[in-house]
Amino acid sequence: MTELASLMTDKNLIDGAWVASSSGKTITVTNPATDEIIGTVPDMCADETEAAIAAADKAFPTWAAMTAYERSEILEKWHDLIAANTEALALIMTLENGKPLAEARTEVSPANILWAAEEAKRVYGRIIPSNVKNRQLQAVKQPIGVAGMITPWNFPSAMITRKVGPALAAGCTVVLKPDHRTPFSALALGILALKAGMPKGVLNIITGDAPMIGKILTTHSKVGKISFTGSTQVGRILAEQAATSLKKMSLELGGNAPFIVFDDVDIKETASRLALAKARNMGQSCVSPNRVYVHEKIHDAFVDALLPIMAGWKVGNGQEDGVIVGPLIDAKAVDKVARLVGDAVKKGAVCVLGGKVHALGRSFYAPTILTGVTSEMEISRTEIFGPVIAIQKFNDEAAVVKAANDTEFGLAAYVFTNDLGRATRVSTNLQYGQVGVNWAVISFAAAPFGGIKQSGMGREGGIEGLDAYLETKYIAIQT
Ligand code: ADP
Repeated sequence: MTELASLMTDKNLIDGAWVASSSGKTITVTNPATDEIIGTVPDMCADETEAAIAAADKAFPTWAAMTAYERSEILEKWHDLIAANTEALALIMTLENGKPLAEARTEVSPANILWAAEEAKRVYGRIIPSNVKNRQLQAVKQPIGVAGMITPWNFPSAMITRKVGPALAAGCTVVLKPDHRTPFSALALGILALKAGMPKGVLNIITGDAPMIGKILTTHSKVGKISFTGSTQVGRILAEQAATSLKKMSLELGGNAPFIVFDDVDIKETASRLALAKARNMGQSCVSPNRVYVHEKIHDAFVDALLPIMAGWKVGNGQEDGVIVGPLIDAKAVDKVARLVGDAVKKGAVCVLGGKVHALGRSFYAPTILTGVTSEMEISRTEIFGPVIAIQKFNDEAAVVKAANDTEFGLAAYVFTNDLGRATRVSTNLQYGQVGVNWAVISFAAAPFGGIKQSGMGREGGIEGLDAYLETKYIAIQT
């Protein structure tokens, strides 16, 4: 069996076994670059969702009772196996998501799991000084229980490891539903988890009708925590459903990231950093620079510097060497980008580069630069999720910060300046969960990732990421 074949399964993982849907129904997964069918995964029913939750619930007491060192050992083995299979995992990701192989390799890097495995050993409680003699007051951390997770297609591996790693490290067990367009990356992680010695029922992975599975996870009495990454619209539905049983929730939702360029920067360097951030996953990221504000004094020079970089991007199948821009996830995604660009141009934006579906076909959108964008255009209010840079001019610090904050979203923002005072002021005043100063690819396993306002609640990564799967218990002991 080839390395790739050994990591691809058409089954789901429930209670340590690989199972098909009892209905026999399947979901077809296609390669967005070629429209070829990659394979099928089960279209699970409610019964199987219940079975996955029951398995996670049964496994929980034993997993939670293991020492952090024992859990870490398994997670470290999982990390090592993922690292050893990077090539095959990256290829699976490129086949189902479309992103360039080089980028897929970076994403596969199991840093999130290793970080969580290490951090599990540092889940400290505390002893609180007592106000009376003969009483000891303790605050201890305990795992919440079964965690239900729903993940998107844009980072088919990292969005999973950033949730599953900390949850398992904390002592929770998991029922994961990946996106139906990118299930093979998730299932491959499941194969390697079993190989690493993950006890049965600790990690369950199911594919099927999202609203049905989501409803069961959010309302089930045996599920203690929901972690979701996806659109704000679906996040609201899940929060509403989970409200009846008051489940703990982490929601990583949409963004509308401003990218502010002041007139004191190195223009070429800043243009290349913007391009680098935008190129990531073809712009299909909730932290992708969405509204680019460039100071009017350097606007034209900045566009001149950006143009050759983006014009030089190779568009194609992510499996080909040198490709920077692969296909978007599907033709519907391309239609959305085309609609946003069309609306902007109709309202007066100037298309300096691209502005059309790419000649390679319906899943590809040409790298695009728009200037003269205004806040009234839909492109300034919606996540573009495509290889499009939409530029507005500004001339005043306070006004640009106000404009940048004028959105319901608050996930990520970027500011480029060499003035320390300005960098401090602006990063303080931007109403976002994370701010990149002079750099725009800032996600990191050890740092807290997450948004404010309609971009969600809770943090993933860092010590906060582990804390999201823990409850604090107060124990008062009279001696
Ligand atoms: P996107 O628009 O980027 O695909 P979504 O929020 O629609 O983002 O999808 C993110 C994840 O949420 C996917 O796993 C998808 O299957 C799932 N999902 C979509 N709709 C629902 C729903 N009503 N309930 C639960 N999960 C859902």
